[in-house]
Formats: sequence, structure tokens, C-alpha cells
Amino acid sequence: MTEIGKVKERSEVPGSMKWDLSKLYGSTEEWGSDLDLLEAQVPDIGRFKGRLSTSKTVIAECLRSQDDLSRALGKLYTWAHLKHDEDLNDTLYQSLHDKAVNLMTRIGTETSYMVPELLSMPKEDLESLLKDPTLEFARVPLRSIIRQKDHYLSKEEERLLAMAAESLEASSKTYRMLNDADLRFPSVVDDKGAEVEISHGRFISLLMSRDRRVRREAFERFYSVYVSHRNTFAAVLEGELKQRSFVSSARNYPSALHASLDEDEVGPEIYNGLIAAVRGSLDVFHRYVGIRKRSLGLDELHMYDVYVPLVEELDRTFEWDEACELVISGLQPLGSDYIELVKEGLSSNWIDVLENRGKRSGAYSSGCYDSPPYILMNYQENIKELFTLAHEMGHSIHSLLSHRSQPHITADYRIFVAEVASTLNESLLMERLLNEWGTRKEQAFLVNHYLDSFKGTVFRQTMFAEFERDISAMVERNIPLTPALLTDHYLKLNRDHFGPDMVMDPEIGLEWARIPHFYYDFYVYKYATSFSVASAISSRLLSGDKEQLGRYLSMLSAGGSKPPLELLRDAGVDLSTPAPISEALRVFSDLVDRFNGLS
Ligand SMILES: [Zn+2]
Repeated sequence: MTEIGKVKERSEVPGSMKWDLSKLYGSTEEWGSDLDLLEAQVPDIGRFKGRLSTSKTVIAECLRSQDDLSRALGKLYTWAHLKHDEDLNDTLYQSLHDKAVNLMTRIGTETSYMVPELLSMPKEDLESLLKDPTLEFARVPLRSIIRQKDHYLSKEEERLLAMAAESLEASSKTYRMLNDADLRFPSVVDDKGAEVEISHGRFISLLMSRDRRVRREAFERFYSVYVSHRNTFAAVLEGELKQRSFVSSARNYPSALHASLDEDEVGPEIYNGLIAAVRGSLDVFHRYVGIRKRSLGLDELHMYDVYVPLVEELDRTFEWDEACELVISGLQPLGSDYIELVKEGLSSNWIDVLENRGKRSGAYSSGCYDSPPYILMNYQENIKELFTLAHEMGHSIHSLLSHRSQPHITADYRIFVAEVASTLNESLLMERLLNEWGTRKEQAFLVNHYLDSFKGTVFRQTMFAEFERDISAMVERNIPLTPALLTDHYLKLNRDHFGPDMVMDPEIGLEWARIPHFYYDFYVYKYATSFSVASAISSRLLSGDKEQLGRYLSMLSAGGSKPPLELLRDAGVDLSTPAPISEALRVFSDLVDRFNGLS
């Protein structure tokens, strides 16, 4: 084995490539004394219990102490989880991490009386809290608590729902056990002649094989397992949708969809608008499918030909410094203030760059109100990692701007806006590379990479969103979800999406059983809206729209101080109309033309 193949020990990684967590705690002892301080406060947390409705001062005191506690807890937990992720085998940090989680759970239990106690107050009293100057600092969390009032039931009913909560988790738990633990898949002989047992992790790589026989056999054998378990999968999915429908109707929501979207203060018209806008642009997607068929030189395009790469991987490598420079140059349209913050991050050890033995895999941006917005990476010198750096940097600068402008109580932002900040950076970097890299091969690679992101994020997630909406409505109309009904409907949506150039293999009708997303409670549409919003903002910034930059940066600074749709509207993107989605789909259409010219 060559030296390059060896994973480094953490001690072998140079300090300049590691994050500096001393900004949080200088030592384990320092962390330990904070832990003791917080633990000592636990018995005291219940001191407002039963007294919240007595006066606004008590409510203010309670919310303020809750905010202080959560800020301190955030600091304690962040350090322990980052230290733990440096080396998951290190038992010291494993135990400190467990202690922090344990304390969070205990504090969560101790403070769980607050929301129900507030919600049991009469509506007029609750609304008057929003106008009270002593509660001004807590207006945002109070507003979101009060919004639940119409869906909060009597004490007895709430008690019953709480008692049922664990058993209502049974379907999603059964699904995970069945799909992830119990299912066994057959083997295929791969393109190197080796017999490979198919697994969830290997399935997509087998479908990326250049050898069509491997793709076809992997596809057919993998789905044969779902075919033979189709009744169980249908029953489990129906059970999940029925529990959602039960809880949402018990809480007086018109449907499970309404209940889920309401958490982000989003109405079904946004969800349905996304589906309608994407459906309205399916002809462009069909054109892309046609190009795929032609590029692969196939007489018939099958569902097992969807993942095989159209373009060869670039053999360019990027040392870390070069990656940083490219990301900085890609993010120039975000203005000099933004770039200064990126440089600050790159030069002051926010990022844990390299892989080491035992380190948490993947990449994330994480931190708390009292820390820099740290980034964990496992940097490899390839192009994919340039985009990972741009993406995570987007989250980190969002956090930094929000932390610098907002008090702790409104600093946290929601997924709905978070993925805009990260995806925008990816699309700006993409545009910069497309302008700079001249060879046909590089251009084709980049355009194809961009098309794949669109395909996976906007088209696929919106199709999932449509399927989830439809089957949930069927359950609410008391239509039994038989395997045949689920499969037929899934095939129909696939047929609509992929268009006339795709041969619709019957196995794909069982894909609904493989995809865990249908257990995520109407969550995945947010990927599609964020991607679309980011793409719309990116094309405006690049076309020199002067106002756009200022509006976007104020959205980042606004953190969680407003509901997500309002934040996006302030940034110039109004999701209550289909315009932003259509704007993004035009970018996709241009890319398809561009790719057509290159391939
Ligand atoms: Zn992200």
C-alpha cells in the first residue's frame, strides 16, 4: 500500500488544517465547570411551573431564563459534539458528549410544562402578551407558541395524545427496521467479474456502471425484493399516513399536509404551486431525457439508465489553497463584505479540513451563538469538494451574519431559508467555473453536474412531494392504499416526469417502498423551493441587479426573526407566486440547450 492510501492519525494533521475549539473552551476542566453550573440549575427550572398565567412579569422572567439556559446549553453541547466528531473512538469525548446530551434531555423534560401552560391561557390573554413591552424581547417565540392555540386541545385530550405518542411512531420504526435491517438483496456480477451482494449503499453505484448488463441485473434483482414484500411495505406506509391524519384531524387541521406546512407558516398553495410549476416545465425535462438517450447511444432508454454518468469524471485535482481561492473567486458577486467574512473563516481555523482516523464522515457547518460557525470536512482534492466547501461556507456565513445582528432568541434560522444560503454559493461557484474553464470536456462536465443537481433536487423531490400529497389525500378520503394503487400511481407520476423517451420498467413502480422520504412528513419539497430560490437569486446577482445583493444580505442577517416566507420576500423572492420556480426552471432550460451543444 502506498503512503497516499493511508488515513492519517489526528496527531499527524497540521494545526493549520484543524479547527480551533479553544474559542469555546480552553480545556476539559473549563467545560466541566460549566457543566456543573448548568446541572446545579436543573432543580430550579420548574420554579415558574403553575405560575405562568399569574402575571406577564413571571412569563417574561421564565422566557428570559429559558433563553439564557438554552444559550449556555448550546455552548456546552457544541464543544462536546465537535470534540467527539474529531475522533469517534475517543472514549473521553464520547462520554462528555453523552453527558451534554443527557443534560439537554433532562432540561427539555423539566421545561416541557411551559408551552402547554401558556396555551391553556385564554386566547385574548395570549394575544395581549404580544403587545406587552416587557415581552418585546420574546415576541418571536411567543408568536409561534400562540399560533398553536387553535390546535391545542383540552388537558384531558392532550394527555391522551401524549400517551399515544410512542405507539404512533410504530409505522416509521417498522419501516426503518424492515428496509434497513431485515431486507437481504441478491447478488450481481459486477463489471470487474466480482460477485457483489446488492445493498442500499451499493445500489446506486451499480446503476452507475458503464456495463449495461450490470445496471439491468442490479435494478431487476434489487426491486424483486420489494415486489415480494409489497404488501408489508404498503401496510406500513398506510399506517404512517393514517397516524398523521389522525393527529392532524384531532388537532383540527383540515389535513395532514396543512398541519405539517403550518410549522413553517406555509400554506398548501405554496406546496401545490411548486408541483404545478414543475409540471408546467416537464417538456424541458423530457428534452433532457432525450439528450440522455442520445448521448448514451441507446435505442431504448430504461429506468436503469438514469444514473450512468453522461460525462467522464475530470482528472483535475485541487490542493486546499487552490480550492479556497476558487471558492473566494466564485463568491465575488456576494460583495466585498461577504468575501471578507469568508477570508476570515479560512484564515482563523473555523474549518477542520482533512480526514483522520475515527473522524465523523461527510461535511457540515455547526456552531452556536458563542462560537465561530465551524465547518467539518473530509477534504479530498476533487471538484466535488469545491462545491462542498462553497455549500458549508454558505451556512457558516449565514450563521455569522445572523449571530452578529440578532439577539440569541431570534438567531436560529429554519431549513426553509438555510438551504438557500448554501445552494446559492454552489450555483455562483458553478457559474464562475463555467466562465473560466475553457475546454469542451470541462464545460460538459460542469453543465452536466449542474443538470444533475437540478434533476435530483428540483424534479425528483417535487415528484416525491406530489406522490406524498396524493397518497396522503387518498388516506384522508378513506381509500385503502393497496400495493397496486401505490404502484400504479407511482408509475403514472414517473411516466409524466420522464416523458415519451423513457421505457417505464414496471419495477420502478415499487420505488415508493425503497425511498425513506415518504416518512419525513412533507419535508422534501423544501429542497426544491430552496434550490429554486437560490438559482433565481444567483441569476439576478450575475445579471448585475444592484438591489438584489443588499436584500439578500439583510435576509441572512435577519436570522429567524421573521417567518421563512417573509424573509424570502424581503430578499426579493415571493414564493406565493410560481414566478421564482419558473425563473429557476428557465436556468435549467438554458443548461439543457448548452449541454445539447456540447455533447
Ligand atoms: Zn446544507
